[in-house]
Amino acid sequence: MQELTHFIGGKHVAGTSGRFAEGWQPMTGEQISRVPLASRAEMRAAVENAKAAQPAWAATNPQRRARVLMKFLQLLERDNDKLAEVLAREHGKTIPDAKGDIQRGVEVVEFACGVPHLLKGEFSDGAGPNIDVYSLRQPLGVVAGITPFNFPAMIPMWKFAPAIACGNAFILKPSERDPSVPLMLAELFLEAGLPPGILNVVNGDKEAVDALLDDPDIQAIGFVGSTPIAEYVYARGCATGKRVQCFGGAKNHLVVMPDADMDQTVDALIGAGYGSAGERCMAVSVAVPVGKKTADELMRRLIPRVESLKIGPSTDTSADYGPLVTAQALERVRGYVDIGVAEGATLAVDGRGFKMQGYENGYYLGGCLFDHVTPDMRIYKEEIFGPVLSVVRANTYEDALKLCNDHEYGNGVAIFTRDGDAARDFASRVQVGMIGVNVPIPVPIAYYTFGGWKRSAFGDLNQHGPDSIRFYTRTKTVTARWPSGVKDGASFVIPTME
Ligand code: NAD
Repeated sequence: MQELTHFIGGKHVAGTSGRFAEGWQPMTGEQISRVPLASRAEMRAAVENAKAAQPAWAATNPQRRARVLMKFLQLLERDNDKLAEVLAREHGKTIPDAKGDIQRGVEVVEFACGVPHLLKGEFSDGAGPNIDVYSLRQPLGVVAGITPFNFPAMIPMWKFAPAIACGNAFILKPSERDPSVPLMLAELFLEAGLPPGILNVVNGDKEAVDALLDDPDIQAIGFVGSTPIAEYVYARGCATGKRVQCFGGAKNHLVVMPDADMDQTVDALIGAGYGSAGERCMAVSVAVPVGKKTADELMRRLIPRVESLKIGPSTDTSADYGPLVTAQALERVRGYVDIGVAEGATLAVDGRGFKMQGYENGYYLGGCLFDHVTPDMRIYKEEIFGPVLSVVRANTYEDALKLCNDHEYGNGVAIFTRDGDAARDFASRVQVGMIGVNVPIPVPIAYYTFGGWKRSAFGDLNQHGPDSIRFYTRTKTVTARWPSGVKDGASFVIPTME
């Protein structure tokens, strides 16, 4: 069994708190590691280290900083197989899906390589008599990211790549369930030439998070995880005067219009509903067919597809999805299926009895499909985060739209239709942050921004894209006049541009 460390000041550092989390391999149900849980004192030491390293990194010109990111990209490519293998083993997702997790992070590192351009300020020549006005974007100092278990490569890179490119030092507190890839990423960045102390990985639980929230040297916090914790981090971080952005849970709907291409729609629902065992914040968990005929046809096609899903260990590259992340997650998701049955939904496909031969202790669940789910049910209102798709039948397009708008979450949503007017109206009126038109998982590409609405996100700025540069920098505006022989005397009125 492996004893993991923290990565502080460019070195692996053993935990000293005496507290550990157990790391389990979802595929087999075996314990594979012990993860140190940092104390406040350990977190403080990491922050001090980062604070000492940050000014020299901020003073390194942006192009040189970008070169370190470019070298980091090369190392990510070199070690891609190793990273994917470790990620799949700890998380449970399949190796091809683990490679996707890494790739979506890589794309944000690529975006952040453009930082010399992205940091360019504005300049107004002759804004007043002999006066020029310009703005500067400067790093914040030491910033932190707190990330969830479900994308252990992508989300840490979404956070630290733009932050570091902008000249900040970064403390990453990854999920205690799969921290090995974040540690490997920090090692690779160091190998790429990042100065020690600029990217630190400190493992931990609530104590470590609270230490970050209360630390006066942490200027900004980016969080991704479940909504109750997102809300807590947002409130406490704001109360201590930090810049905070928190991304939370989701319940993503896919509206199926009567004119939708049914082959495309069913493929989309199967991939987006069950891929990664439904453990994606952009997973589709609710299908909303419009009209009885559409609903009946959808169910007729979905049932055999869900029944024939191929579930396998993470090492099986032909599997559609692997195990859930922990025994507790498996219990929670199974519990939701029980609740759905008790609430009166029709369980059209029941995956609860699934056993993976040769891996009987792994955390596997067969695909589950509910029909006739109604908005008052807990399985509709709450995030299940497992391979469970609910079908909520709508009579009209307006009913489907209202359903999406009334849900407390607003992360992603999709509409499948051939009708451009309907798609356009939907994109305009739906109260959700990321919208797909015949695209089931509309995670925006790296140079756009990612973020939900309503209780899926707290704070004003999104992740990656231009918002990430805004989030990790502070703007300064300079109004400058050089002595030019003009003597206008003391003025006692507020300067204007008259
Ligand atoms: P989680 O909320 O349990 O954990 C997220 C982070 O918070 C982890 O680093 C964890 O150690 C820390 N944490 C846990 N309990 C805490 C507490 N009481 N106080 C302070 N910190 C605490 O989430 P998870 O189970 O790791 O991830 C799944 C959730 O993340 C789902 O709800 C999913 O929708 C959401 N998610 C959202 C997005 C998004 O961009 N909106 C992306 C990915 C995942």
